[in-house]
Amino acid sequence: MIKQILLFSAMLLLAASAQAGFVGNRSSKKIHTENCRYANCKDCTVKFSSYQQAKNAGYVPCKVCKPKPKN
Ligand SMILES: [Zn+2]
Repeated sequence: MIKQILLFSAMLLLAASAQAGFVGNRSSKKIHTENCRYANCKDCTVKFSSYQQAKNAGYVPCKVCKPKPKN
């Protein structure tokens, strides 16, 4: 029983971290969603777990994928 609860919590954590993924381009200072076609460039090496975190770091949203804060 306890094992099942632990497994369930782990899955919830994984789901939460997978859904809130943003990539930052350290050269252009753009925020991309992880599935943006520009998110795989060589300068897109900065990972953010939230949009706000990226904004606080001085990044601006990409005009193609238009990343938005949750809620
Ligand atoms: Zn983008």
